[in-house]
Order: sequence, then C-alpha cells, then structure tokens
Amino acid sequence: MRKKKFKELGMDLTSTNLDLVNSWLTRLNTALAVYDITQLSNCFCHDAYWRDLLAFTWSISPSQGNYEIAKELVELQQTIKAHSFCLAQNRTTPRRTTRLGVAVIEAIFYFETELGRGEGVVRLMADEPSKAWTFLTTLYELKGHEEKTGASRPSGEAYSRNFGGANWLDQRKIALSFSEREPVVLVVGGGQAGLAVAARLEQLEIDTLVVDKHEKIGDNWRKRYHSLALHNQIHVNHLPYIPFPSTWPKYIPKDMLANWLEAYTEAMQIKFWTNSEFVCGSYDSAAGQWSATIKESNATEKIIKPRHIIFANGVSGIPYIPSLPGLEDFKGEIIHSEGFSHGGDWEGKKAVVLGTGNSGHDVAQDLRSHNVDTTIIQRGSTTVVSIDPSAKLNYALYDEGPPLEDCDLMASTATYPLIVKGYQLAVEKMAELDKDLIAALIKRGFKYDLGEDQTGHQMKYRRRGGGYYLNAGCSELIIAGEIDLIQFNDIDRFCDEGILMKNGSVVQMDLLVLATGYYSQNELVKRILGDNIAERVGKIWGIGEDGELANMWKKTPQDGLWFMAGSLAQCRIYSKYLALQIKAIEEKLIRKSF
Ligand SMILES: Cc1cc2nc3c(=O)[nH]c(=O)nc-3n(C[C@H](O)[C@H](O)[C@H](O)COP(=O)(O)OP(=O)(O)OC[C@H]3O[C@@H](n4cnc5c(N)ncnc54)[C@H](O)[C@@H]3O)c2cc1C
Repeated sequence: MRKKKFKELGMDLTSTNLDLVNSWLTRLNTALAVYDITQLSNCFCHDAYWRDLLAFTWSISPSQGNYEIAKELVELQQTIKAHSFCLAQNRTTPRRTTRLGVAVIEAIFYFETELGRGEGVVRLMADEPSKAWTFLTTLYELKGHEEKTGASRPSGEAYSRNFGGANWLDQRKIALSFSEREPVVLVVGGGQAGLAVAARLEQLEIDTLVVDKHEKIGDNWRKRYHSLALHNQIHVNHLPYIPFPSTWPKYIPKDMLANWLEAYTEAMQIKFWTNSEFVCGSYDSAAGQWSATIKESNATEKIIKPRHIIFANGVSGIPYIPSLPGLEDFKGEIIHSEGFSHGGDWEGKKAVVLGTGNSGHDVAQDLRSHNVDTTIIQRGSTTVVSIDPSAKLNYALYDEGPPLEDCDLMASTATYPLIVKGYQLAVEKMAELDKDLIAALIKRGFKYDLGEDQTGHQMKYRRRGGGYYLNAGCSELIIAGEIDLIQFNDIDRFCDEGILMKNGSVVQMDLLVLATGYYSQNELVKRILGDNIAERVGKIWGIGEDGELANMWKKTPQDGLWFMAGSLAQCRIYSKYLALQIKAIEEKLIRKSF
C-alpha cells in the first residue's frame, strides 16, 4: 500500500523529506495553474485544514475538507494568481514530526501572488505524503512595498550630514508634532499591541500616531501590582524587529518590560503622545475619514482626522464591578485590582479579595506576603495551572529549535478544531503534572475545572479572557490555610464590618479588593464611538462564527476600524498582517469594505 502510494508519486522508499515536499509543491503549482478542483482536492487528505492569512483571502480565514479547500482555492486563484510554490531557502528544512498525534512531514515554503510574496507551512501525512493534512498560506510582503530592512535599510541621506538643515532629531520632532498633517493611522493605546502594530506600520511608510492616556510609556505595566512578572518565558515574548537581550531573565518583571516599551518606542521611532486620551470619534464614510477627539492631561482637546483607527486599548480597559448585596454598608476601603499596587500599606490588617483569576490570586499572595490577614472569595470554578512545568507546554513548539520566525509560522497554522484538539492534549498532560496540586485544592474546597471541553486556561483566554490562574505560589498558600478561602455562594451579604455569611458568622475586613475583571472591548467601543458602531462591529475577541478570534487583527464591519490585542506573541505575529492590510488599502490594492 505504502509502496504503491510512493510509486504514484514517481518515488521510492528512499525518497527524502525534501523530495516528497518538492513533489507535493509541484503538484500544487500545476493544479493551481490550470484551476483544477479535482487535482487540487487530491493534494489534501479528506479532513484537511487550511488557514489563510491574507495571501488568498485578504483576511484571516480558516477552511476545512479537501474539496472545500480546493474549491475555494480555485475561486480565489482567478484574482490572486498564486504561483511558484517552492521550498523556502534558509529556513527550517522539512522534517518528520508529530503534531496532535499525527505523524507528518512539516515544511516551510515560499510562493508568489500577483500582488505579493507569501510564505506558508504544509504538513504532509507521513504515511501518505501525497496528501497535506494542514496548509498555511500567509502574505509576507507586498511587491513594490517591501520593508526597508537589512541590505535595503534607509540610506539616511535625508538627515545625515545635512549641514545647515534639519538633522534627524529636528525631523523626528516635526514628525511627532503632527502640526501640519494628519496621521494616516491613529493607534489608541500604547501597550504591546499598539507598539507592535505601530512599529510595523512605520516600516511600511504609513504615517502613524499612537496615543495613550498614561503619563509615561510603559505605565500600562508599571502601574500594575508590585510583584508582577510575566507568566510565559522570554523567548516567546519578543516584540517585532528587536528581541529582548539574551541576558534578560526568563520571566520578565513588569517594570523591566515597562522600561523596554519606552526604549522600544524610541528605537523604532514610533510617534507616541502620552497623556492623551481618545475620548470620542465619528466616521465620515464619504470622506473615508475619522474625526477623533484627543483629550490631553491639561484638559485641552485636539481633533485628529486619520483614515484608520486601531483600538489597541487593552482587553482590560474599564474595570468591571459587579453589584454586590450590602456593599454600600461596608465601612472599610474598596478598590478594584486595577488600582492595587502592593500590600505594604495594609500590614497587620484584614483584607478580602473577591475573584480567583490571575489578578485575584496575585493580589492575595502579595497581601499575605505583607503580613495581611487575607481571605480570597471564589465565585465561579477556576482552572489552575502551574507556570512551570504545565503552562510551558502550550509553547513547546518554541523549544524545538527552529528560529522564532519559523516557530511563529508553524504556530499560526492551526484553525479552531485543531486548536481545541491541541489544548485538550496539552491539558491532559497538565492535569497529570499538576495532579497533587489540584487534589489538594479540591480537598480545601476550591472549585476547580479544566475548562469547557477540557481545553484548559488557553481556550478560556481566547473565549472570555479569564477564569484561570497560572500558579505563582498562591495555591500553596490557600492549601496550607495561610490564605483563607470562602465561597461566594456561602455569603449572605456585605455589611459594615465585612461579610455576613449565611451561617450567621461575620468575616471582618479592612480592605476589599475587587479582582472582578474588566468590561469587554465592545463596551469601550460603545462608550467612545457610540451604539451604532458598536452594534455594527459586534463581538470583539472571543470566538467568532468561523472559529477565529472575533474582529481581531482583520477587517471589521466598520470601515477604517481595527482591533489589535493579545499576548506578546500574538501581538508580534498578527501586527504584521494588520499592518499589511492597511498598507494594501492605502495603496488601493484592495477595497476598504468587504
Ligand atoms: C499577571 C499578568 C501576567 C501576564 N503575563 C503575560 C505573559 O507572560 N505573556 C503575555 O504575552 N501576556 C501576559 N499577560 C497578559 C497581556 O499580555 C497583558 O494584559 C497586556 O497588557 C495586553 O496588552 P495590550 O497592549 O493589548 O493592552 P494594555 O497593556 O492594557 O495597554 C492598553 C493601553 O491603552 C491605553 N488606553 C486605553 N484606553 C485609552 C484611550 N481611550 N485613550 C488612550 N489610551 C487608552 C491604556 O492606558 C494602556 O496603556 C499577563 C497579564 C498579567 C496581568
């Protein structure tokens, strides 16, 4: 059987991975050139998966099934005119590996379209290498609009040795002032999401302004609680173009990251206004232009008229405070976790933290470490995962050896069904690795779950951005009784001294920290751009109908409005595609509307 398959391909069992991939790419080229659905269909196994990042669809588009993929490819090929699929030079060579339990030959390839150059990843079935199981196509660059990097870096002649004229600094100040021109793109929010996309846009020569309401670049991390360090390892977290120094610690502390964002802004020559809050905006569809009101810290307002607005204002914008019975009677202090810095001010006092997500646990641990008598209230059941070794499993690909850009491509391949499967497999291992911790938590009365369909914390993050804790030591404190645990269901109401329990006892407290999360980005859009635009756009983040993150990094139903968010890795990867879409619209290579 296997011999027959190889023979069909004109090969024998000694064929190398390279031969097999080359042969598959040749068949793909031929089938696309003659628009042949049957031939194309034969390039894929029955339950194949295709994910396209702009190259064919100008959006982030998943597809499934060999016939459906072939049909779509042929339809799109009429305009996209993809050709010259070939093995990528100087990239990870084709290799045999196992993905989600399937033995595959994995290869990175290049190709061209009429407008651009692309790269992708194909995974051929190891036992039937004439068929692809997964197929990723991405747009790498637009022809004639390539980034000016490496050998094609800018000459600098516009400001070098310009005796008597404006030097680089003079020109940067002028560019930053936007005194005599409008930015093409306004990025609202200068955290990692805003900075990553601004850096990409600048390389594509799209005049971009980032505004942030904070006083200093990096304050979005700096102002978070004292003990915060990142939860995943540094080698996954680099921003575009400039990796973190190789001397830096595995888990970056928040202030170190904050300072890096400042340095990054300057190094990438990003135009950034601090103390500048985007307060309202409206869109003139005839002019294809926004009118955006920016309020400065001295209360003066500026009107900016960009063609595009990118919301990069964080999924944790407006603190959510649930209605809690009797809370108005409480005489002590109430703060949202957003405003919590560190527990030092509360030494020797009693504090209660409401919420068992990451923030709730970290705040409780911080309070306890400052000798505060601390209790945590659990409302819903929570996924708990050890940072090391369990949470690391989701990034195992990045430990396999290939360079970052190859790992990013490989990580971008999965569509929703494969993401679910991947997380389920990882969660099985995590639950085994963390079994003692989980058993002890449950014994202590902690409500624990593995997430809907056993997909753990990563899918909770995608679906609702919370509901989990990556254990930095707080679970052990809860298990040991160093931090008290009460269930929300056992509470009758809040009272002047603290909490009246259903059994009649009172939990005394001086401080209540509400680690109750944030409103969704929809709420921000509604408040800033109004109900109509919010309704038109619909859900932001969370899983959309096609299984991709809703409205994230791609065209939205509102012309000129884009969303950028996610982990540092997602920001690095998807900022590229968002920037390319805007560039293509600005160059009139694609329409701005669907
Ligand atoms: C404890 C903890 C650990 C984490 N660990 C990791 C990790 O290891 N790896 C990882 O990738 N992620 C991690 N994250 C999650 C995630 O990366 C962060 O939440 C990140 O801050 C999101 O970046 P952002 O740029 O989308 O949003 P934010 O950092 O929230 O930045 C948004 C910016 O928008 C500004 N803004 C909002 N509204 C306006 C407005 N109207 N006008 C002007 N400016 C505005 C804000 O001032 C802010 O500076 C962690 C988070 C926490 C809390």
